[in-house]
Amino acid sequence: MHVLVLGAGQLARMMSLAGAPLNIKISAYDVGSESVVHPLTQMPIVNGKAVVDDLASAIRLADVITAEFEHIPLDILAICEESGKFLPSAKAIKAGGDRRIEKKLLDDAGVKNARYFVIQSYEDFQKAIEHVGVPMVLKSALGGYDGKGQWRLKEAGQADAIWAEMAECIAATKNQAIVAEEFVPFGREVSLVGARSADGTVAAYPLAENVHTNGVLSLSTAITDQALQEQAKQIFSAVADRLDYVGVLALEFFDINGSLLVNEIAPRVHNSGHWTQQGAETCQFENHLRAICGMPLGSTRLIRETTMINILGEDTLPEAVMVVEGCHIHWYGKSQRPGRKMGHINVCSADLDSLQSKLAALAELLDQAAYPALHEFAGKS
Ligand code: ATP
Ligand code: MG
Repeated sequence: MHVLVLGAGQLARMMSLAGAPLNIKISAYDVGSESVVHPLTQMPIVNGKAVVDDLASAIRLADVITAEFEHIPLDILAICEESGKFLPSAKAIKAGGDRRIEKKLLDDAGVKNARYFVIQSYEDFQKAIEHVGVPMVLKSALGGYDGKGQWRLKEAGQADAIWAEMAECIAATKNQAIVAEEFVPFGREVSLVGARSADGTVAAYPLAENVHTNGVLSLSTAITDQALQEQAKQIFSAVADRLDYVGVLALEFFDINGSLLVNEIAPRVHNSGHWTQQGAETCQFENHLRAICGMPLGSTRLIRETTMINILGEDTLPEAVMVVEGCHIHWYGKSQRPGRKMGHINVCSADLDSLQSKLAALAELLDQAAYPALHEFAGKS
């Protein structure tokens, strides 16, 4: 099987690593540079003697096409959909890439999500304040990720100052809008990553509890909570069935005293599912490939307690990290930039107590400034 991934970043890279044992070959289309590359080496793809250097050729060569991100130009999405090879579907990608479509999907699927109002003008903003109330979270409808394109309105008096920035954001991009959401006083954030195959079979991973620092995921731990898991799985199925979804889908939730509210969806493999590489019987990357290639899904069973720690903005780790038993380092091969997702560490152990000791050992080796969530987490007992 030959799979073409739209996007040539770390998710395509990890799909490539997971696909190799199943003889699934991956090529990646870098939407920015409009080039077709191998996601591990970033080198050109060669088919026979010919270099595959344009999207049309890459589509012809592929058995299946998928995506590693949702902010894909609509013309590219349309070409891929037309080929009849694209999974999950252009509809699913659009729902992940436009918060207006996403919110409507959640409403149509009948799942709880934060109250919202779409803003295009100053008048809309005033209406949003009435309808949604303060405090509120404001998010650009298009192009947001890692907490970018977001504002917080704590009191109505700050509205004018924030409006100037929001108006600039709306004007900068065609079809842009702002989605105002009520501020949700959640106890914690959890996510469900699951795979759905074409016949409707769903295999969901154990929930992950997620810690964000400045809007960016910094740490995820697989958790066991049967009641919450059941609730999350029902919501997952409602959304995935509605999209007739094929592949891995992630749902991010706010947990308010055991009641789940959907924050957002990601129609792809997800950062909060990276722990599955060491902690689950079959990792999310393999299960995504299995689903889109029409293979049976693999077991999502937890095999080791696991925490994933994102490496943000740093391109080295002390060598001693490699000696901590159960630590698995995954670099993405990217050039360093402040705050950029450069890699992650999966820390595994037989039980939660020994996992906690390993996290404490890691916190001794890693700077508090670069890994604040780890230090906070390791401090808890
Ligand atoms: P990513 O794509 O990296 O998950 P994003 O930019 O799409 O992030 P969100 O997930 O919507 O953004 O928001 C980022 C974080 O901001 C959330 O994980 C949560 O911590 C906080 N947040 C978002 N919406 C709300 C809300 N309505 N109430 C309270 N906190 C919120
Ligand atoms: Mg999010």
